[in-house]
Amino acid sequence: MGAIVAIVGRPNVGKSTFFNRMLQRREAIVDATSGVTRDRHYGKSDWNGKEFSLIDTGGYVVGSDDVFEEAIDQQVNLAIDEADAILFMVDVETGVTGMDEDVAKLLRKVDKPVFLVVNKVDNAKRSEDAVEFYSLGLGEYYTISSINGSGTGELLDALVEVLPEGELPADDLPRFAVVGRPNAGKSSFVNALIGEERNIVTDIAGTTRDSIDTKYNQFGFDFYLVDTAGIRRKAKVREDLEFYSVMRAVRSIEYSDVCLLLLDATRGFDGQVENIFWLAQRNNKGIVILVNKWDLVDKDTHSVKEYTKMIKQRIEPFTDVPILFISALTKQRLYKAMETAVEVFKNRSKRIPTRKLNDVMLPIIERTPPPAYKGKYVKIKFCTQLPTHYPQFAFFCNLPQYVREPYKRFLENKLREQFDFTGVPVTIFMRKK
Ligand code: GDP
Ligand code: GDP
Repeated sequence: MGAIVAIVGRPNVGKSTFFNRMLQRREAIVDATSGVTRDRHYGKSDWNGKEFSLIDTGGYVVGSDDVFEEAIDQQVNLAIDEADAILFMVDVETGVTGMDEDVAKLLRKVDKPVFLVVNKVDNAKRSEDAVEFYSLGLGEYYTISSINGSGTGELLDALVEVLPEGELPADDLPRFAVVGRPNAGKSSFVNALIGEERNIVTDIAGTTRDSIDTKYNQFGFDFYLVDTAGIRRKAKVREDLEFYSVMRAVRSIEYSDVCLLLLDATRGFDGQVENIFWLAQRNNKGIVILVNKWDLVDKDTHSVKEYTKMIKQRIEPFTDVPILFISALTKQRLYKAMETAVEVFKNRSKRIPTRKLNDVMLPIIERTPPPAYKGKYVKIKFCTQLPTHYPQFAFFCNLPQYVREPYKRFLENKLREQFDFTGVPVTIFMRKK
C-alpha cells in the first residue's frame, strides 16, 4: 500500500540516475533475496518508514528528437493524472531551458504537490547556480546530486510529509482491481457487473487521490472495486495509450487485494498482459485471469484447455492461478468470476496455525529433505506463517544459505497442495535456528 510519486523532466537531467538510487536503497533492505527482475521504470521505495511507488514517467514515454515536445507533454499529463506527488527534475549544468519552462507552465496549474528538484548539484558552487530556477515560478526548490546522494534526504523528508497515508476502509472486505490492456473490456466488464451503479452502498472519496473506491454488493458478495470511477469515466484518447493503462494498472494494483486481469481472447496473453501479471505478482496480490470476449472465439480452433495451457506456459512458475473464460458482452460467467475472486481473497488472508503447519510439513520434509550442498546437510526444524497481509512462510534450519531455489519451490508447491493458495503468490524464507 502506498502513494505514487512520479518523476518528470526533460531527457538527461538525471531522472533514471535518481530513480535507480532510490530503488537500490530499498532493494538492498527488503528485496535482496528475491532475485526477480523488475520494471526499470517502476519500483517501490520508502523513507522514514513511509512506503511509496516511484515512477520514472520518462521511461514510459518514447519519442525521437522531433517528438520530444509532445512526449514531455504526455509525460507531464500522465503524472498529473495518476500521481500523488510530482518531482520535476531540472539540470543545474544546463540551467533553465525552454522545455523546462514549458513543463513548469503545465505544473503551475496543478493542485498536487510539485517538488522542483535541481539535480547535479555536486558541490557548493553549483548550489549558487541553482538560484536561476526561481524563474520557473514554482517557488522553493531542492538541490540534490543523484550521483553522490547529497540533498536527497531533505527532499525525501519533505516529500513523504505530503504523501497521503493511503488509508483503507476499516472493514476487511476484499478490494478488487480490474486491470488489463486498453480495449480488453475492463469498462464493459465493470458496467456488466455493477450495472448503473444501483448497487452502490457507499462512496469513499479518496482524500488526495482522485479515484473513488466504491463498495458494492453483487451476487451476495460485498467488495470494493478500486478505481472504478477512473475506468468508467475514461478519457478515451488517453486510455488507449499503453503507458496510461500501465500507470492506471500500477495504481489500482497498489490499492487492491486481488487483481482481475482481463485480456482480450482474440488478442491473447501477450507481453503487455504478462507485464501486468508480474506486476501484480511482485506486489503479492491475488490474481484471477479472465479471458474476455470468449463469445468472439471460434471454439473449434481454440478450446478452453489449449488456451489455458498456453497461458500457463507464460506465467511459469506461478501457474496456480484461476483462468476463466468470460464475456462482458453476453455476461457469461460473471458470477463465477466474482466467486473465484472472493475465494482468492480468502486464500490470501488464510492463516495456517503453526501446529497444523508443522504436523503437515515436517513429515514431507523428512521424506524429501533438502539435498546436501557442498557436503553439508540442511536440517529444517520447524516452520511458521508470518503475520503479514499475504502468505509468507519461514522455515527454520541450521544452514539457511544452503537451501536453493528448487527446494524452496518444492516447499511452496507442497504448501499449495496441502492448504490451497490458488491465485496467491506465496513467499518462502529460510531462517537460521
Ligand atoms: P534521464 O534522461 O533524465 O533519465 O537522465 P540520466 O539519469 O540518464 O542522466 C543523464 C546524465 O546525467 C548521465 O550521464 C548521468 O550520469 C548524469 N547525472 C545524473 N545525475 C547526476 C548528478 O547528480 N551529477 C552529475 N554530475 N551528473 C549526473
Ligand atoms: P477497456 O478499454 O478495457 O475498458 O475496454 P472496453 O470495455 O472499452 O471494451 C473495448 C471494446 O471491446 C468495446 O468495443 C466493447 O464493446 C468490446 N467488448 C468488451 N467486452 C466484450 C466481450 O465480452 N465480447 C465482445 N464481443 N466485445 C466486447
